[in-house]
Amino acid sequence: MNDIRSSGQFVVPGQKLGVIEEFIPDSGTYVKDGCIYSANVGYVLIDFINKKVSVYPVARNTNVPKVGSVIIGWVTSVQSSHATIQIIKVGRKFLSGHFTGIIHISDVSHRYLDNMHDAFRMGDLVRDKVISDKNKTFHLTTKDENLGVLYAFCSQCGGILIKRRNLRCVICGNIEKRKVTSDFGKGIL
Ligand SMILES: [Zn+2]
Repeated sequence: MNDIRSSGQFVVPGQKLGVIEEFIPDSGTYVKDGCIYSANVGYVLIDFINKKVSVYPVARNTNVPKVGSVIIGWVTSVQSSHATIQIIKVGRKFLSGHFTGIIHISDVSHRYLDNMHDAFRMGDLVRDKVISDKNKTFHLTTKDENLGVLYAFCSQCGGILIKRRNLRCVICGNIEKRKVTSDFGKGIL
């Protein structure tokens, strides 16, 4: 995504506005690794004289993730201790912007899990709950029978996994593990 160069552009949280060498971050923004990002859903205001950038928020009831929100997202990466989720819906509403969440291995299940790859794989569709938005990062949990993987795909061939006694690929028969929801494979998005 290109940096913002003019006032009035619509932005969402996490959208890059510029770098600290060119602007002073003002209200509605935050800084991470030398870059300035929007903290609000709103419109960019650039004060070129004072070199300040701010984001004027639009209506407060816009659909963005909050602590307690149940979200739907795609798993975009899985590491040994955490997975990254691209949030696509909050409740029943799709989002217009880009929101990323992170789930730590200790927040996956009430049961001990020693390998994140036994809970999630890249491309899985998941239902998670937001437990924190500290430092503008959405921290997620799946510690509920209603939360976890809704739809999953075979890591060998990409076929859809179905649940019988375990999760099995409809195409190649590969058996896989996930932290599934109680409505796995039939949940309404
Ligand atoms: Zn398969």
